[in-house]
Amino acid sequence: MADFFGAFPRHVVAPLWAAKDRSPYLRLLRELERTQYLTGEEIRELQLAKLRILVEYAYTHTPFYRERLTRTGYRPGDCFTLADYAGLPALTKQDIQEHLDALRTREMPRDKLIANLTGGSTGSPLKFYHDPLRLESRKAATWRHNQWAGYRIGDKAGVLWGMPRDINAKPSLKATIRKRLLDRTLVLDTSSITEEKMREFHAQLQRFRPRVILAYANSLYLFARFLDQAGLTPPPLVGIITSAEILFPEYRQTIERVFEAPVFDRYGCREVSIIASECAEHQGMHINAENILLEIERPAGNQQPDAPGEIIITDLENRGLPFLRYRVEDMGRLLEGPCACGRGLPRLELAAGRTTEFLVSPSGKLVSGAALTVLLVAQTPGVRQAQLVQERQDELQIRVVRDDNIGFDEQIMRRKVFEFFGEQMKISFEYPDAIPRTASGKYRFSISRVTPEFLRSPHAHGN
Ligand SMILES: [Zn+2]
Repeated sequence: MADFFGAFPRHVVAPLWAAKDRSPYLRLLRELERTQYLTGEEIRELQLAKLRILVEYAYTHTPFYRERLTRTGYRPGDCFTLADYAGLPALTKQDIQEHLDALRTREMPRDKLIANLTGGSTGSPLKFYHDPLRLESRKAATWRHNQWAGYRIGDKAGVLWGMPRDINAKPSLKATIRKRLLDRTLVLDTSSITEEKMREFHAQLQRFRPRVILAYANSLYLFARFLDQAGLTPPPLVGIITSAEILFPEYRQTIERVFEAPVFDRYGCREVSIIASECAEHQGMHINAENILLEIERPAGNQQPDAPGEIIITDLENRGLPFLRYRVEDMGRLLEGPCACGRGLPRLELAAGRTTEFLVSPSGKLVSGAALTVLLVAQTPGVRQAQLVQERQDELQIRVVRDDNIGFDEQIMRRKVFEFFGEQMKISFEYPDAIPRTASGKYRFSISRVTPEFLRSPHAHGN
């Protein structure tokens, strides 16, 4: 049956709400729908024009970049090229952890900026800022990419995500109405999954009839395996958007087989929002290039245009805290040639990145590692980077690279761990100087050798 309510919010409520909030995101969205079909050359010109404005802004309004750019010989008004720009030293997570205040814009008062927190893709917590307008362009870009997967403003979506604060916070009346009319989501909180909750979520989905599912890759793979083993049929979907974790080929195959709908993989991070996502061709991910300049730092020995290397991001729109050549700590390569969909946006293939596994509580509850990067690590002071390792169901080893400037308190983290895992969990701490990548270049935030009981069947994957 057609979802009439879906058409109503999209055409009527969303524009009204946008006008009432003086929110320009729908205008920005229309502009992005046009610019995605510019040629590759036109898009590079657009990026360079925005970049020159941003660099001059960062030089003028932030002490950190004033000093860093001066050292590279930059002067305001310089007509530098993209190749010149690649000579600017990369901004690291540690730079932001240590120089947050010097990185913030002086053009706006601090209380006008929006503070944000992330556990990062690698378990390194970060605080940073956006200016208010950046939230609008983030929203516009997210909707452009949602639409490629068949998810339009006002459509219903099933969501498997780890955000209990957002879910459990008592919503205002305005937020409730807005959610019902515009967001229309049904959420499975992946920071606390049991077999019973998955069964219940399946029944709710059958009644709710979402058009799409939006999920952490690992969480949806787990849900797909559960449905498969329980012999439950999922509701019909137009598309599935996976994000926040590496989508391994076997994840995609299982999810597409069980849900009988195409998977559109997405890559983004909290610092800059959406970075790239798949179109209907599924040949790599189109970069959100009007908002994000993405460079690949190739190893000295391999300078081929499509060689893999470290991903370096410049957020072309955030004035609150300019991210100039930000080392996001993922690896990828650029794909050559045009995409059959006709979009001129360049394409990225992720090579290696974050891997997070589910951890298991002593009572058998599953806790999403991706959720914990946000809910546990980002909210514990004094952590530079962290890794969680589970060898046995009632033991959790926590490795913390401590921040020397801010005291780390074991008790704070212990209490948070109990919130997710219960007080039966035995916790031990280790304090290494660094947490290395694996040989393939991946950071592993959470590692578990424990398989929950309901997946211990001869067909179940894993150990
Ligand atoms: Zn395409």
